[in-house]
Amino acid sequence: MKPPPFHYHDPRTVADVVSLLGRLENAKLLAGGQSLMPMLNMRFVLPDHVIDLNRVDGLTYIRERDGGLDIGAMTRQRELEFSDLVRSRCPLMHEAILEVGHRQTLNCGTIVGSRCHLDPAAELVSVAAALDATVTVVGPNGTREIAFADFPLGYMTPAIEPQEVLTAVRIPTWPDGHGYAFVEFSRRHGDFAIVSAAALIEADARGKIGRTSVTLGGMGQGPVRARDVEQAVLGQAPSEDLFRQVCESCRAIEAMDDIHASAEYRQHLAAVLARRALTKAAARLHAPPSTH
Ligand SMILES: Cc1cc2nc3c(=O)[nH]c(=O)nc-3n(C[C@H](O)[C@H](O)[C@H](O)COP(=O)(O)OP(=O)(O)OC[C@H]3O[C@@H](n4cnc5c(N)ncnc54)[C@H](O)[C@@H]3O)c2cc1C
Repeated sequence: MKPPPFHYHDPRTVADVVSLLGRLENAKLLAGGQSLMPMLNMRFVLPDHVIDLNRVDGLTYIRERDGGLDIGAMTRQRELEFSDLVRSRCPLMHEAILEVGHRQTLNCGTIVGSRCHLDPAAELVSVAAALDATVTVVGPNGTREIAFADFPLGYMTPAIEPQEVLTAVRIPTWPDGHGYAFVEFSRRHGDFAIVSAAALIEADARGKIGRTSVTLGGMGQGPVRARDVEQAVLGQAPSEDLFRQVCESCRAIEAMDDIHASAEYRQHLAAVLARRALTKAAARLHAPPSTH
């Protein structure tokens, strides 16, 4: 299948991208093309203009700053996979990316393309929710930051205006020795998850759970934080029995029905995967990420 006809633009700076977005009607940004090209070919989107970000300066980097990672919009998923900084400071992202697509899609696909496409089951989208990421958006009125919790407006609909471009992602990192795990159920390796679970745990001085984050992907229109589970484990000693018991509440999280799975099956997966993710995360407390 071939895409519909469109005008192609090849800007070199973010300012040029914003200027093009300001004056062109019905334009789409092209990052890695791994979601946009299939959407064009299947005629799900019909833009008059495609603005290619691949030669825009200064959008590819991974840097550590003030307790977090700053990642440029055009950083390829493959670069995230092989980044020592990601692996040591944000091992959850490293583990999640191993579940994303295939070598070919990782070589092209970008961190921000995944965020903006906003598939509810996308692994990097769940990681953003799990880590309370923020995104930087540039538009005609300047630059603004959006908390990832406010980023999904609805099904595959990010909270960015048509004249705006997302330039970077900020990921707050957890302290050394935290536990983490990303687990998912999908039909084949490289498929989007039917349901995924991301867990982070930090222990307090007594070895009890001092802080946790549990995120389920694939349940509905966007990733959901299992707040009941997060609350219920605080101050408790980590154990599989505890996790089994508290994760039962995931069966009450609203879930969608589609051709891949019923809502009830997704809720079952949510309870099972949240328990597995927490158990794995707890087993990794105090272990250096590079040994996993
Ligand atoms: C065979 C196959 C298997 C895959 N499996 C998985 C999987 O298991 N898990 C998974 O998560 N993904 C999977 N994907 C999708 C893949 O991760 C894509 O790379 C990702 O969804 C989109 O990233 P991209 O850089 O290719 O963006 P593009 O396809 O170029 O763009 C996607 C959307 O984001 C918008 N956009 C891109 N950059 C910006 C920006 N800077 N500012 C504003 N809007 C922007 C575009 O306009 C478009 O609407 C798969 C893809 C394929 C082809």
